[in-house]
Amino acid sequence: MKYPMITVELNKIRHNASKIVALCENAKIEPAAVTKVFCAYPEIAQAVVEGGIKILADSRLENLIKLQNLTVKKIMLRLPMISQVKDLVKYADISLNSELETIREIGKAAVEQGKVHDIILMVDLGDLREGFLVGDLVDEVEEILTIPGVKLVGIGTNLTCYGGVIPKPENLGQLVNLTKEIQERYSLNLEIVSGGNSSSYYLIEENLIPEGINNLRFGEVLLFGRESAYGKLIPDLYNDAFTMSAEIIEIKDKPSLPLGEIGMDAFGKKPEFVDKGVRRRAILAVGKQDVDISEIEPKDEDISIFGGSSDHLIIDITDSKTKYKVGDIIDFKLNYVSVLRLMTSSYIYKNIR
Ligand SMILES: *Cc1c(COP(=O)(O)O)cnc(C)c1O
Repeated sequence: MKYPMITVELNKIRHNASKIVALCENAKIEPAAVTKVFCAYPEIAQAVVEGGIKILADSRLENLIKLQNLTVKKIMLRLPMISQVKDLVKYADISLNSELETIREIGKAAVEQGKVHDIILMVDLGDLREGFLVGDLVDEVEEILTIPGVKLVGIGTNLTCYGGVIPKPENLGQLVNLTKEIQERYSLNLEIVSGGNSSSYYLIEENLIPEGINNLRFGEVLLFGRESAYGKLIPDLYNDAFTMSAEIIEIKDKPSLPLGEIGMDAFGKKPEFVDKGVRRRAILAVGKQDVDISEIEPKDEDISIFGGSSDHLIIDITDSKTKYKVGDIIDFKLNYVSVLRLMTSSYIYKNIR
């Protein structure tokens, strides 16, 4: 084994996918799996597909390109850049959009490639990230329908990302109403009504999801077994599919307070310390370049984290029942934020099994 390492347990992810697919089936919802937190490693995406997921979604085109050998539909989540429309049309089947200029450019690229690119129009229901304002959308559709090379297949929304707004029957109901308005005014059928991300999960569990919402895009709940409206763990799902392991490179008993005048730490901040007397400290060979150290939790509950710098993590092992020695490995529980950076770091070995 090589360290620092992140272990990804595919059986747990496959299990979570199949549970979510089953729950969504009852609610007449097609779930898309969001692959960005694990940088779209194809082996992990494959496990999700084996769990029954039929659509993969990512916010980065580089990631969708990695998934090109998986024969499922792919959605580009972040609004496309005009500079990337050629690759967008090549590697994504559907994209989320909110700008006419971009949609025109997508249309041109699609016509050049002899394709029709499917688009979902995003509606901002109050979270204030992407999307047309509710009052503008229906009129904008008129022009979009005239653009060659693109097909309007649905509308969607994203909540609880910037503004923290929680999806409710009321705001998602607006999305359903807009769908009906567009369908009637332009005599067309919108196949996809995409009602958000893992923060909409609780609405399915509580049977509150408005009828007409038929698609959701899940990252966090699928990979971490946690819905993101209230932060509840889902009993049926694994929340420990990802683990970080790092190696001890020093163990010494040292005082809690640094000696001398305190200036700045390695990140330019003035650090503060609590005097707990002499403590047994271990240094691990992993640091802030690889992971947000405030977002990890030692599996050994008697260990706490002192802090760290770019390449070092300092932990307190004084109270542990285990007698650690240099060369031993310490495991950490992870969350969305910590996995995001660990998977992105090229210094972290990926143990996908
Ligand atoms: C990241 C993202 C998601 C997935 O969010 P989770 O909270 O991880 O489920 C869904 N939709 C869009 C547009 C996203 O950018």
